[in-house]
Amino acid sequence: MEQLKVLFTEDEIRRKVVEIAHEIRRDYQGKRPLLVGILKGSFVFMADLMRALRLHVEIEFVQLSSYGRGRKESTGKIRMVRRLTTPIRGKDVLVVEDIADSGHTLKFVLDYLERKKPSSLKLCVLVDKVFRREVDLPIDYVGFRIEKGFVVGYGIDYDERFRYLKDICIVDEES
Ligand code: 5GP
Ligand code: MG
Repeated sequence: MEQLKVLFTEDEIRRKVVEIAHEIRRDYQGKRPLLVGILKGSFVFMADLMRALRLHVEIEFVQLSSYGRGRKESTGKIRMVRRLTTPIRGKDVLVVEDIADSGHTLKFVLDYLERKKPSSLKLCVLVDKVFRREVDLPIDYVGFRIEKGFVVGYGIDYDERFRYLKDICIVDEES
């Protein structure tokens, strides 16, 4: 059975989200960015970020699947199971994602969005697992960089469990 260890508390997350929101607000002054959240993991982060931004924003979601049930490794095959429902041509698009791991998922999303000719395209990630990166990924806004582990909570699941946790925790299977 897994054990969970708190990595970032609710309070630390709240402060980090406000910090990122400040950077984004500064960079998008006078603009009306379109936040594109990647379902499902990013929905809690997206909701908090959107409210911390204090900017007029639009939102969209796409959904991909690459992880099989119960797995902690990507299957490598990425499928888009929900596409954009509105055109993004000429818009300032900001992709909002929970985790950057190998980077394949985000690369796939960025390529998909780029083909739709937004006026700008940036990337915001809450947890960056740099050590796992396999492809080059330009991340414009990063919450936390971590050195190891598999995280859950704050919308992020392990086989659909633990999304409800207010903290971000590390799953520890050794004990
Ligand atoms: P990538 O394509 O970058 O390898 O995978 C990114 C996706 O894998 C993330 O959006 C997330 O859904 C999932 N993932 C990667 N690392 C973790 C992790 O530590 N915990 C959880 N719950 N999901 C992860
Ligand atoms: Mg995800």
